[in-house]
Amino acid sequence: MAYQAPYQDLQRLLPGQVRLLEPMKLHSTWRIGGPADVLVEPGGAESLSRALDFAGRFNLPVTVIGNGSNILVRDGGIRGVVIKIGNGFSRIKAEGDRIAAGAGVKLAQLMKVALDAGIGDFEFAAGIPGTVGGAVVMNAGTEEAAMSDVVENVVVMDKMGRLFKQPARELGFGYRTSSLQGASLIVINAECRGTFCEAQAIQARIDEILSKRKKTQPYTYPSAGSVFKNPPEGTAGYLIDQAGGKGMRVGDAMISTVHANFIVNLGTATACDVLRLIDRVQELVSRRFGIKLALEVRVFGED
Ligand SMILES: Cc1cc2nc3c(=O)[nH]c(=O)nc-3n(C[C@H](O)[C@H](O)[C@H](O)COP(=O)(O)OP(=O)(O)OC[C@H]3O[C@@H](n4cnc5c(N)ncnc54)[C@H](O)[C@@H]3O)c2cc1C
Repeated sequence: MAYQAPYQDLQRLLPGQVRLLEPMKLHSTWRIGGPADVLVEPGGAESLSRALDFAGRFNLPVTVIGNGSNILVRDGGIRGVVIKIGNGFSRIKAEGDRIAAGAGVKLAQLMKVALDAGIGDFEFAAGIPGTVGGAVVMNAGTEEAAMSDVVENVVVMDKMGRLFKQPARELGFGYRTSSLQGASLIVINAECRGTFCEAQAIQARIDEILSKRKKTQPYTYPSAGSVFKNPPEGTAGYLIDQAGGKGMRVGDAMISTVHANFIVNLGTATACDVLRLIDRVQELVSRRFGIKLALEVRVFGED
């Protein structure tokens, strides 16, 4: 059941920033997901604070997303207010070896600004389709480096609309995790620091990473990147592959034949298909290796 909140009031309060019954598949790289009661894409911190105030007054749950490249939204959609941190938070500035980036800046843009300023250490972000905010929360990265290696501070907003700065050491960064996961704080901005480096060397490193990705990851169909975290025993992709999971399918959701830790949407996959496939793969790997694979993707919404 959708919440009976006066969402039209919110539309009047934030013109052009509010969409009712918005299909979440339009906001997920998996192209899967039922409708959000309301989706707000705030034009900036002031609008965000108003949206949070509205949600607080009507006691509505709040879900935050960035580029939707690591989320699975269930088929019944999301009740309450979904807040998308995007273009309203896209300011970015390099100064010396530091870069201050809005949470809605795409990692590709962050990397480009770093390259133009001759600041290295951001190359790991090549090919990761998230925003700075989502990447901080997920501590996105590769086996070589992650956001925790470059972030010094983040500015967050709490649900009362108050802004404050948190140093990286208080963010509980770990492998694909941070203390911001599941917290009610919204990342607004991140202050990052790299190391001065020749632009040519940075570019060569980016090219190398992108070419490796093209060879080892599926790009033909929509996906959300790696579905499972790598357990200490080995990579999830290797374990799924060895257990015979490649090509396994439920409806239009399929374990990629290119990279076994990716589930691709062949066209009309539902969240239900993906979740059933996830269960089957977990069972397969558990029976073969006695390892329970944990989810990396964040699941939201109702069946
Ligand atoms: C093809 C492909 C390749 C990928 N490769 C990698 C990879 O190599 N390494 C890797 O780590 N990931 C990878 N990913 C996953 C994904 O891109 C990253 O996790 C990315 O950082 C998610 O950012 P996002 O903006 O899309 O966040 P979303 O997916 O929208 O959200 C992810 C989580 O962050 C929260 N969130 C988002 N923005 C904010 C905010 N501003 N404030 C508070 N909470 C917020 C959401 O609530 C959710 O819990 C890949 C995905 C794809 C599709």
